[in-house]
Amino acid sequence: MKSDPATRIQDLRQFGEFGDVNPSVCDSATFTFMQAKSMVDTFHGEAEGCFLYSRHWNPSNKYLADAMAAMEGTESAWVTGSGMGAITTTILHLISCGDHIISSITTYGGTFAFLANYLKKFRVEVSFVDITDLKAVEAAMRPNTRLIYTETMTNPLLQISDIPALAAIANKNGIKLVVDNTFTPMIVSPASLGAHVVVYSLTKFVNGKNDCVAGAICSSHEFINSMIDVNDGTAMLLGPVLDPFRSSSILKNIHTLHIRMKQHSHNAAYLAEKFTAAGLRTIYPGLPSHPGHALLKSMMNEQFGFGGMIAIDLETAENAAALMEDMELNDVGYLAVSLGYFKTLFSNSGKSTSSEVPEDIQRKMGLSEGLVRYSVGLDNDIERSWLKIEQSLKKTGFLK
Ligand code: PLP
Repeated sequence: MKSDPATRIQDLRQFGEFGDVNPSVCDSATFTFMQAKSMVDTFHGEAEGCFLYSRHWNPSNKYLADAMAAMEGTESAWVTGSGMGAITTTILHLISCGDHIISSITTYGGTFAFLANYLKKFRVEVSFVDITDLKAVEAAMRPNTRLIYTETMTNPLLQISDIPALAAIANKNGIKLVVDNTFTPMIVSPASLGAHVVVYSLTKFVNGKNDCVAGAICSSHEFINSMIDVNDGTAMLLGPVLDPFRSSSILKNIHTLHIRMKQHSHNAAYLAEKFTAAGLRTIYPGLPSHPGHALLKSMMNEQFGFGGMIAIDLETAENAAALMEDMELNDVGYLAVSLGYFKTLFSNSGKSTSSEVPEDIQRKMGLSEGLVRYSVGLDNDIERSWLKIEQSLKKTGFLK
């Protein structure tokens, strides 16, 4: 029988100890043992099914982690208090002082800042490359390179990473490929394509309600267990754990993710065609003209579409501001950062979520000052939404 990310989540049998259809929320920080030896075994990671302390594991967090692992098709997962918590903990776990990382030059601004600025504290050097240029990735490899870092669909330029090819390069060099799949849950399953660790900001599509920040790390049992090792596990020792109440609410939302992704994709594809037909420079991986279109098709679980993210280029930050302000007044959605919400959100990436990237690097990576990034919502009548956008485009002089 064929398996897909949504069906794997559906097949999980998770209920509470009183038969509650939603697993009970476990808000306990610590857990009792009836035998002292079981506690000792748990400290050594050897007591299956026992919980020790909620910075390590908590039953509510385990339910959500198991759902994430099911979605990704990984052996295990661990949930964090934010997407940045997942990213930084994973990277810090994989490197030592003086190591080297190869990263896509286009990544979420916070990730870029961590790699470019923060890791300097540990004398870790990062080579930023155009991740679609596999020769550049190979050329950047050094004897002390420990990992390749990329996003399946990069933020904000929506480039597509060739995960099987990057995994092959990583394997050839005995290093890890870490992939942020925040923009493309369900659509792409990076671990099944060879990624060693898949990280998420659950804040975005996976939760989809903008009521919390959260993250996840999906990987092998070996990797997750080493991250929560009481002696030297980065997750256990830095403690970026998710609150169990939040795990419980995200777990409910993950069960509608497949339906939401289809609608986000449907609406974004509709708008991308309209933007293109209107003559605007449009970036959407679902358009055959997108350089990563065929690659994404070869990697994706097609039923979920090409995702909910679109970017259009209005050349200047002033143009972007004028359009966004008008669209907000015209009820297209909200001028806000973040993505994956049921309402459409738009922001000017260079001045917001990528503002940590110095302007010269923004230009080098092809990020226009006037880029407006849309996270297209779950609008029931997307034609009506387009008519509103068209009105705003006309009012602000970008369309006749
Ligand atoms: N990864 C991507 C692709 C993002 O867009 C973001 C946030 O915008 C993050 C990671 C960070 O996630 P969080 O805000 O949950 O820490």
